[in-house]
Amino acid sequence: MFVSISNRCKGCGACAKISPEVFDIWENSAIPNQDKVCGNENSCIDAAINCPNGAIVIDD
Ligand code: SF4
Repeated sequence: MFVSISNRCKGCGACAKISPEVFDIWENSAIPNQDKVCGNENSCIDAAINCPNGAIVIDD
């Protein structure tokens, strides 16, 4: 699974609260740590579903 962030991200921080292992916030944008996605797939999906801007892109 591959996680990326589109330019729709507003840096609200919701993803970092839902999946702190994977997402950090830096200069008003989320940054996914791809190395941590394996084993945290469910929380990544949860973060994507709950992103208010639909900015989290998940590819299989
Ligand atoms: S929840 Fe969405 S808009 Fe908010 S910081 Fe994460 S990717 Fe960006």
